[in-house]
Amino acid sequence: MIKRITIARSYGFCMGVKRAIGVAEETARNTDGPVTILNEIVHNDAVVEDFRSKGVGQKFAVKDVDEGTLIISAHGVAPSVLEEAAAKGLRVIDATCPLVSRIYDIIKDVIPQGYHIVHFGDRNHDETKGVEGHAADKITVISSVEELDQYPAWEERKLGLTVQTTMGLEDFVLFQKAAREKWPHIETFDTICNATNKRQTAITDMAPDVDIILVVGSKTSANSNRLAHISRLLCGRGELIGSAADINEAWFTGEEETLERIGVSAGASTPDFLVDAVIERLRELSGGSADVVEQEKKKRKPRSAKKVG
Ligand code: SF4
Repeated sequence: MIKRITIARSYGFCMGVKRAIGVAEETARNTDGPVTILNEIVHNDAVVEDFRSKGVGQKFAVKDVDEGTLIISAHGVAPSVLEEAAAKGLRVIDATCPLVSRIYDIIKDVIPQGYHIVHFGDRNHDETKGVEGHAADKITVISSVEELDQYPAWEERKLGLTVQTTMGLEDFVLFQKAAREKWPHIETFDTICNATNKRQTAITDMAPDVDIILVVGSKTSANSNRLAHISRLLCGRGELIGSAADINEAWFTGEEETLERIGVSAGASTPDFLVDAVIERLRELSGGSADVVEQEKKKRKPRSAKKVG
């Protein structure tokens, strides 16, 4: 029987996602003619479906958009995509998160100074494709420590290290260490998003005190998947659920397991109403007797991964 439901001190919509959704909603409201979102406005099925139901189109390539207004999602795009849209006469509304744009700014700043960028990220993610598209021949995307072996010593190159905003801090610290062993001259530009970091830290702190952590988020959301991954590593049980409908009663009833202390978190692209519905369902399963508590706030030391000379 569920006895306690602990809500993570930091979860759900981040600044960049709130901003992108606000921009898209306002554009849809105030625009005559077709409005199309390029890719998913944020990686959450409920949010994507909500825009579809309001008549906002969604396409995955500019070539498939013939007219009207095109909204660029929070994950950003390569400059060539903006050029293609302009060439087709589309009105472009750019909802790229400012923290993603910051990576573009760093690239634009250091590449003319002779740097080659090593970008630690998932090469299939929209954000990474956008970053890489800013100077494909001057950026090498690497997704794991193991891949480092494939690359030369690059002693003659000035090297800069950037990172996908939603990468795990622990993974980045390990990658940075391995990259510095291979390339002692590499400079780090820490581009991990603090929102991601805060959500991961909350899960890390919560893990010892709960039996399972439910992370509300879509399978397409990199940061939600990462929260579920951290939950599994540190708590032993972590489930990524799209909504309350994915909660399996047998986890709590003794049929399969008897998990009593439940942690709840959500990715940065998950709307609050989905999290509220999960908490409500868990309370229902407890017969209304479970305590719902918010995770305590905790002071933490400043992060260590900073730009180095
Ligand atoms: S997770 Fe961070 S980088 Fe990504 S959209 Fe949100 S605020 Fe921006």
